[in-house]
Amino acid sequence: MVKKTTRLVAAGRAPEKHGGMVNTPIYQSSTVLFPTLDAYHQAEKGKEYYEEMAGGSTLDFSYGIGGTPTIFALQQALAELEKGDACVLTSSGLSAITATLLSVLKAGDHVLMVDSVYGPTRRFCNKNLSALNIETTYYDSTIGQEIASLIQDNTRVIFMESPGSLTFEMQDVAAISAIARKKNIVTMFDNSWASPLYFNPLDHGVDISIQAVTKYISGHSDILLGAVITKGEEITRTILQGWRHLGMSASPNECYLALRGLRTMEVRMKQHKESTLLVAEYLKNRPEVQKLLCPMVPGCDGHDMWKRDFAGGGASLISVVLDKRYDAAALSSMVDNLTLFGIGASWGGFESLVLDFNPSTIRTVSPWPYGDATCLRFYVGLEDPDDLIADLEAGFNRLCA
Ligand SMILES: *Cc1c(COP(=O)(O)O)cnc(C)c1O
Repeated sequence: MVKKTTRLVAAGRAPEKHGGMVNTPIYQSSTVLFPTLDAYHQAEKGKEYYEEMAGGSTLDFSYGIGGTPTIFALQQALAELEKGDACVLTSSGLSAITATLLSVLKAGDHVLMVDSVYGPTRRFCNKNLSALNIETTYYDSTIGQEIASLIQDNTRVIFMESPGSLTFEMQDVAAISAIARKKNIVTMFDNSWASPLYFNPLDHGVDISIQAVTKYISGHSDILLGAVITKGEEITRTILQGWRHLGMSASPNECYLALRGLRTMEVRMKQHKESTLLVAEYLKNRPEVQKLLCPMVPGCDGHDMWKRDFAGGGASLISVVLDKRYDAAALSSMVDNLTLFGIGASWGGFESLVLDFNPSTIRTVSPWPYGDATCLRFYVGLEDPDDLIADLEAGFNRLCA
């Protein structure tokens, strides 16, 4: 088996099937035409392309919602990189999460959800799953095998995200998955932070890996796309059917751009990491920073777990807890006038970003020991790290002026 670096370049490509084109072209279609009724009905059963084209990842090819060759190419590439049996794509990372939960859960079920989860996932559990009589219990991200004590007779799903959103707590994925497996509970993992490059949840006992393709895979802040990758026959069938019945689909244009991003992902990630470690070092030494949240950095919470599981790589996100609560005017003076860090949501693109956040509003179980001290999240892009640090330096000077 060739190395991952090589697979990033080769995965999902088949020029011989597409007139020699080095990239799979953008195939757009709702209607697909067949030469005979029999061929149509075979395609409905997913037979025609099942192994060959889609890597086993779709059931029904009789209509565009089942996918076109551009979509199959990305499905195949992500299934291969995440070492899954199948991959389906949805219109956003968030819809990949909600479709996965809806495909597996039924009324009366119980979900164990990590407290540091991506905010919109929490919102979906609290508003939408609860309306379907599906109950959610949040657990502390550092719970490890103690998760056993929260399992109920009706627990159907344990959902993990590691590191957590905004605060980047690491989870013991293998320990939690081993317990879930014994109890026949489905495990889901939001793998957007590490990308398929640096963590393969399915290798650590997880049943379903979810990617916001929007982030590092696409890499250019120009598309929204989600992926669900499964391993195991029963769970794969459940997801394929749920996805199909929910009418989820992805645009071939977006898939084309995601495939294009995939090819250069590793060189981007290496630069992101190098720059992030430099920016983190700078932030750590600022007197206004009382706590750095970034598991890639030695001495930060979760560093040992990151080292154990994440193959030395990861996202260029850093959160900081400042030494006190700064008033809105001081914070605006710092942040609004940054020239290289844009104010905006999301991450994974080429450009640096910054946002403030308040952890106490997005957690209900895990203690937050820093009171109301101001928190900022920085996303380190591909600008020169010296320039980024100079921008921050000027910002901190404004904050304290
Ligand atoms: C951004 C993000 C998502 C959602 O992705 P979208 O494509 O923006 O919907 C899901 N999980 C995590 C951890 C994210 O950061």
